[in-house]
Amino acid sequence: MQTKETKAYGTTAIEQPLTEMTIGRRTVQAHDVEMEILFCGICHSDLHQIKNDFGGTQFPIVPGHEIVGRVTAVGNHVSKFKVGDLAAVGCIVDSCRHCEYCKDGIEQFCDEGVTFSFNSNDKLLGGHTFGGFSKTYVCDEKYTLKMPQFDDLAAAAPLLCAGITVYSPLRHWQAGPGKKVGIIGIGGLGHLAIKIAKAMGAHVVVFTTSPDKIDDAKRLGADKAVLSKDSEQMKQFGRQLHFIIDTVSAKHDVNSYLNLLRHDGSLVLVGLPPEQLEVGAFNIIHGRRSFAGSNIGGIAETQEMLEFCAQHNITAEIEQINIQDVNTAFKRLENNDVKYRFVIDMSSLGN
Ligand code: NAP
Ligand code: ZN
Repeated sequence: MQTKETKAYGTTAIEQPLTEMTIGRRTVQAHDVEMEILFCGICHSDLHQIKNDFGGTQFPIVPGHEIVGRVTAVGNHVSKFKVGDLAAVGCIVDSCRHCEYCKDGIEQFCDEGVTFSFNSNDKLLGGHTFGGFSKTYVCDEKYTLKMPQFDDLAAAAPLLCAGITVYSPLRHWQAGPGKKVGIIGIGGLGHLAIKIAKAMGAHVVVFTTSPDKIDDAKRLGADKAVLSKDSEQMKQFGRQLHFIIDTVSAKHDVNSYLNLLRHDGSLVLVGLPPEQLEVGAFNIIHGRRSFAGSNIGGIAETQEMLEFCAQHNITAEIEQINIQDVNTAFKRLENNDVKYRFVIDMSSLGN
């Protein structure tokens, strides 16, 4: 298969800064949509991957999986998109399409292994996939999302990963009126979880380690914001919450949060601390509680989430940067110094 060269930003080894490089994108196939990337968010998963936190990072790596762009070409069999449309790509760019999970629209659990937008084996070109820190992306239309109208397109980019990762469990565990939802960590995922859970009608309690985020959490819509290091404040929420979404990116104690669940409540992990977490048996046996997890969301659900956010005027709070500042942004993300998502203006990469 032929490729077309495109500019990108990536790194060739762990601990090395990202620099400009050239990658090959496949030429447009019958079902493909090619887009010029306008904006790309920076997710903590990009940081985990360039640091090889989980092992298995393939170098050179071009991160980026919160991609919005404008369609520049479509294949002969494409029916959903035309040149000039806005389009988006999130975490999933392919899957087997026939296993029970793909058929059920939960492609993220595909039996044969989903192809992620970066650092995944590329079934068509060989090698591995390259993400959105680049000029262009080419994706099968089946895995390409339609972008509804947003006032600020850059601020909508983080919905493609952070948004769906919290929307999916909020839907699955039925956030809504009468439900008390806890959110741990006010970062890229957590701040969108506050907005989405509120829009669903839930009562939202957030837990943060950062005193300067307490007032902000209320501005974002939280009903209560708790400094998690303050055990007196924590005690007040004992056995209060129907479920909790845990977005923390590093090792932390989940037991103190399990005890805030009502009977039959669930603590749903979406954060990916590289280290193992310990769960005390009595904290789940008592009250028949569940310790669960959730991984992004399927393509149809991602489209549903985009429509929901457009309808409720939900976008991320962002700090827009040029690609040349991406290494500083990663350092700041590592130091928990971003409110609340970096988004790269990809025009800064030049032609
Ligand atoms: P982020 O913006 O860095 O937010 C993480 C938040 O966790 C921070 O803002 C901070 O909130 C809290 N935190 C960080 N270090 C902590 C520590 N040592 N102890 C306690 N709290 C700490 O990251 P993100 O982009 O939202 O991603 C969060 C996690 O989700 C990452 O691990 C990422 O890889 C993972 N993720 C998973 C999926 C999935 O499908 N499951 C999808 C996307 C991302 P406070 O300052 O409020 O305490
Ligand atoms: Zn992500």
